[in-house]
Order: sequence, then structure tokens, then C-alpha cells
Amino acid sequence: MAPKHKAIVFSDFDGTITLKDSNDYLTDNVGYGHEKRRAGNIEILEHRVTFRDAFREMLESVSANKPNFPECIELLRANIKLDPGFSTFYAWCLSQDIPVIVLSSGMEPIIRALLTDLVGPTADKIPIISNQVKIHEDGKGWEIVYHDDSDFGHDKSLAIKPYKDLPDEDRPVMFYCGDGVSDLSAARETDLLFAKVGHDLITYCEREKVPFTVFHDFKDIHETVQEIIEGKATVKEVAERPQKEKDFGKKKEVLN
Ligand SMILES: [Mg+2]
Repeated sequence: MAPKHKAIVFSDFDGTITLKDSNDYLTDNVGYGHEKRRAGNIEILEHRVTFRDAFREMLESVSANKPNFPECIELLRANIKLDPGFSTFYAWCLSQDIPVIVLSSGMEPIIRALLTDLVGPTADKIPIISNQVKIHEDGKGWEIVYHDDSDFGHDKSLAIKPYKDLPDEDRPVMFYCGDGVSDLSAARETDLLFAKVGHDLITYCEREKVPFTVFHDFKDIHETVQEIIEGKATVKEVAERPQKEKDFGKKKEVLN
């Protein structure tokens, strides 16, 4: 049997499909600020704290200062922009019957609102697997509701595994695109991992020896996925491409 879809693209949302991470934006501008957030991200990367605990604390600092959740969404709608290559890539995926599935540690209402704004009506076809939000009935705030019991809050490998477990002849080629600490649970799960240049996921992959391919924006992802789908390159060839691209990623590493 041939696979139902020739490929599936799983993607992180914040900082990957969007240029800025919406939760980072809220934390830096509404919550406890950039410095403390970066310190928290380093703690997660060094395994001294779980993503689940650090992220909850981050969002609690936002909720304390902006208890009205719809106002948070409006702030993000005004400030978060789409990766310049995503719309074209997504339209191509639709034309090829390649599902694009968002796996996010963010909260679903924010992601849905931003996707619809930024991508347009076809964004409805993008499944979102993410955390949720609970709005307190007394109107005094909101909190994140995690997807599962894992230390990640949302263990992104759970959505990928059913495809990974399919017999070889039924398996689609699987891609994952990500940028940061929320992607650690997915990093080893697909055939090819795209990690955004200059961001924390690269630091992690280099340290843990997880193979990855650097991307700058979705135009790079589009080019590579299309090459593979059209049989011009194999996943293995792409993964083994010159190290200089990866070195470039390392040199350009900045604190985001
Ligand atoms: Mg991200």
C-alpha cells in the first residue's frame, strides 16, 4: 500500500511559522521581562528545570499584569508577523496534498487567531495540536492548560509516533520545523529536522548529537521539501549536506 500522503510537515508555531514567539513577546512586554525569560530558557536547555514549570511561571507573570485574555490576543495580532516564505510553502503543500500540522506549546485560541489573520481562510485546514487556556470565571486572569502530563506540557512526539510506527510502505516522509526549547520533545522523531538559524534548538541538537538541517525562513524549507518530494534529493543526502551551513548557524547564534 502506498502512503495516504507522500509527506507530512509538522511544525512548531511560535518563532517558526511566525517571526517572533508570541509567548516570548507577551513575557518580554507584559510579564516579567526579557532577561528573566532568557534565564528561564537557558535553565530548560540545561535540564535544570522542566519546560512545563518554567513556561507556566512565564505565563503567570503575563496573566498577573494582563488578566484579560482577549487583550493578550489583540496585542499579538498587532505585533506578530508571518515568516515570509510560509504562505507560498503552505499553498504548495495544499496543491500536493501534503498536510501541515502545527504542534505547539502555545495556547490554541492565540494560534488560531494569528494563523487566520496571517495566512487567510485556508488556515482553517491546518490542524493545531497544542495547549489550551482556562479563563477564570471571576474575570481575574487565565492560565495555561497543558496537553498532557509530560515534563514538556505538550509532548510533541505523541502526535508524530503513530505515523512513525506505520509499516515502511505506508509511511509518509516526515519533516519537523522548529526553533526552540518547546521543540525538544519532537527533535528526534521525524526523518528530517529543520532547525532555525541562530536559535536554541540548534544549541540543543549540537550538544545532544541530534541531526538537523538549518533554515533561515520557510523558503529554505520549501526548496528542500520540494527537492525530496520530486526525487531530486533523498532525506539522507540533505541531512549529510556540507557542514558549513550548520557552522553558519552556530556562528550566527544570538540570544533571542
Ligand atoms: Mg518556537
